Amino acid sequence: MAGLKKTIIRTGLETLYFSGLHHVMRPLVGGVGSILTLHHVRPLRHDAFQPNRLLEITPVFLERLLRRLARRRIDVVSLDEMHRRFIGGDFKRRFVCITFDDGYKDLLRWAYPLLKKYQLPFALYIPTSFPDRLGELWWVAIEAVIAQNRRIGLVIDGKDQFFECRTVREKRELYDAVYGYLRSMKTEDELRKVVRNLCATYRVDIASFCRDLCMDWAELTELAADPLVTIGAHTVNHPILKKLPNESAVRAEMEMSRSVLEAALGKRPQHLAYPVGDATSAGPREFRIAAQLGFKTAVTTRPGVLFKEHREHLTALPRISVNGEFQQQRYLKVLMSGAATAMWNGFRRVNAA
Ligand SMILES: [Zn+2]
Repeated sequence: MAGLKKTIIRTGLETLYFSGLHHVMRPLVGGVGSILTLHHVRPLRHDAFQPNRLLEITPVFLERLLRRLARRRIDVVSLDEMHRRFIGGDFKRRFVCITFDDGYKDLLRWAYPLLKKYQLPFALYIPTSFPDRLGELWWVAIEAVIAQNRRIGLVIDGKDQFFECRTVREKRELYDAVYGYLRSMKTEDELRKVVRNLCATYRVDIASFCRDLCMDWAELTELAADPLVTIGAHTVNHPILKKLPNESAVRAEMEMSRSVLEAALGKRPQHLAYPVGDATSAGPREFRIAAQLGFKTAVTTRPGVLFKEHREHLTALPRISVNGEFQQQRYLKVLMSGAATAMWNGFRRVNAA
């Protein structure tokens, strides 16, 4: 349990971890529907140090999930259709939306063929700096810094501090500590500065992750042409919006990403996902701005299923994260019951504070 809790704190995602398919399916029977969050879909890698493993599932796991969804009496619907059902009060059938954050290349190779095969609609939330090749995937960059070095220096409170990271265990602990340290920074600028310094010191090319991992505009254009696909906004620079100093900066991130996507893909995005998306990353200020900007819906990573009451909070929707971090860890199967999301939320249905 301590390990699980630590990872949740570390990721700041307030994510629910599902160790097997039945655990993903179970919460789907609550409420009127739910929105699934996925990031990477790719075959297992065997490196011992993979602190971001929680952000990926295997193609086999995805296919089993899709097959089950296709068979059940659950409608897999687009975000527009979800919105229509909320506005129209049409809750006759339970629904699920499938969403992918950040626009990783592996989606094209591994997930897209499966989604096509089962003809299931899905959405992609794109931070426009990623296809522009200006994005900083800082959580991947610090993974590389720690993986490639045996000792890391950081300036903390004006003092040089050094940390050993020879063993996998030390690397994991250091990753958690550095991640927590970065998340505790007051502003996004400070966070980025520390990451850039680390990358410069340890010769990690932070731009390379964006190039190697994320889809480019040509690939996104191809996807966007498919009627199964909805492209949603995910800001420009993928900042933790709550760390931005003022409203106009938050507004600019949301508005600009919508304009860039519209210009590049010819369709104005109607839906938004807040980067990182937990309660420390997006709150009432962000929910209000997204609504003012006219987004039909906006999603967080706060865990939970959807209830009718979310009609009044369409820019503060919870999601259920599907990931493979703990697939092997049996204790989680015990931890995760059908009531998991309800317990998590203290049995509150809507959490938009
Ligand atoms: Zn994201």
